[in-house]
Amino acid sequence: MLIQLSEEHEAIREGVAKVCGRFDDEYWSACDTEKRFPFEFHRAMADGGWLGITMPENLGGANLGVTGAAIMMHTISSSAGGYSAASTVHLNLFGPHAVVVFGTDEQKERMLKPLIAGTDRACFGVTEPDAGLDTTSITTFATKVEGGYRVTGRKIWTSSGQVSNKIMLLTRTTPRNECRKPTDGMTLFYTDLDKSQIEVRRISKMGRNAVDSNATFIDDYFVPDADRIGEEGKGFHYILHSLNPERILVGIEAVGLGQGALARAAQYARERVVFGRPIGANQGIQHPLAENWAYLESAFWMILRAADLYDAGKPCGAEANAGKFLGARAAFEACTRAVMTHGGMGYATEYQVERLFRESILLRIAPITEQLILSFIGEKVLGLPKSY
Ligand SMILES: Cc1cc2nc3c(=O)[nH]c(=O)nc-3n(C[C@H](O)[C@H](O)[C@H](O)COP(=O)(O)OP(=O)(O)OC[C@H]3O[C@@H](n4cnc5c(N)ncnc54)[C@H](O)[C@@H]3O)c2cc1C
Repeated sequence: MLIQLSEEHEAIREGVAKVCGRFDDEYWSACDTEKRFPFEFHRAMADGGWLGITMPENLGGANLGVTGAAIMMHTISSSAGGYSAASTVHLNLFGPHAVVVFGTDEQKERMLKPLIAGTDRACFGVTEPDAGLDTTSITTFATKVEGGYRVTGRKIWTSSGQVSNKIMLLTRTTPRNECRKPTDGMTLFYTDLDKSQIEVRRISKMGRNAVDSNATFIDDYFVPDADRIGEEGKGFHYILHSLNPERILVGIEAVGLGQGALARAAQYARERVVFGRPIGANQGIQHPLAENWAYLESAFWMILRAADLYDAGKPCGAEANAGKFLGARAAFEACTRAVMTHGGMGYATEYQVERLFRESILLRIAPITEQLILSFIGEKVLGLPKSY
């Protein structure tokens, strides 16, 4: 069982940090302010061979498992780019998981290779405006026709849709009320996001502005049979397969973000002199930062335990969910404290912590909210009645 990082993990950390080190505060601040996708960073990660870290080796990936990917994402989000940097590459790791596990050899070759090379970018179309967290209530419908399906519906929050040419799309192929179980009757596609036919409308939002999020309007769009992943009607089960890795990666991205903010706060507390001494000499400044360190560190190891269990093929739902919850909370607290430690300068964009603070709230909401995680733990771990 993993209780410390291996040499391989340290090598991942070192290699990824080298790439991240080429992109400084100024670069990420500009991407955020100008709401500009960090194409240069994405290219540098692809050129370094990092986008295929979880993908099969025969396709050009490194097959290093979720633990390796977690170390990589932690390194990215603790760099100057924070959660924006992590989100730039994140979808390559867990988004196509259904293709890795359930795709045919032809699909893996066609769909994964360009993602690893960084020539394709994919977004994830699951959430719908009228379904929210109740995913089985989605209504985007794929009607079977000769050679494929015609899809109509609306997705919301489709991240990176503006810069993606592919979409992983969850649809219904049987109305919910005609299914034996609400989780049946959904079908998954990985297909072209043809913006001459699909409207992808950017949503103005609080933070993580380097990576766009969108309302996506799909009207009678043809998707070929060749782009259906696995069997018709089993899409929800395929998506479930990628949920634990997703929780693990988002959780550890949160930890990295919080640790990046904490490092900035500690540095400022060492250097800023008020009343004739560094502000960090005051316990009112020092103790909250030490508390942030303790919470972030414990979330880090909870998440790595989940990753270790996952890679060993063991159940890890409780640990993955708890890790995401703890990581997001610890990150939010650390980023908030980083702003407060900087006093007025915490509010200035120059010191970066306000950018990290705005990103940290998102981690408590998406891809799953705290309430739903607690409901999962209440039901599955504590044996309490299902509450949703
Ligand atoms: C910036 C951003 C990027 C995103 N990117 C993507 C993406 O790329 N692809 C994608 O598919 N989705 C994406 N999402 C969507 C995200 O996963 C959802 O916003 C999230 O799952 C919450 O769903 P909702 O917003 O519909 O909340 P709702 O379902 O409307 O819930 C609202 C609130 O009510 C609470 N609530 C609801 N039901 C219960 C209950 N039974 N018990 C207790 N509390 C409950 C929720 O926890 C939440 O606090 C993104 C969201 C954001 C904000």
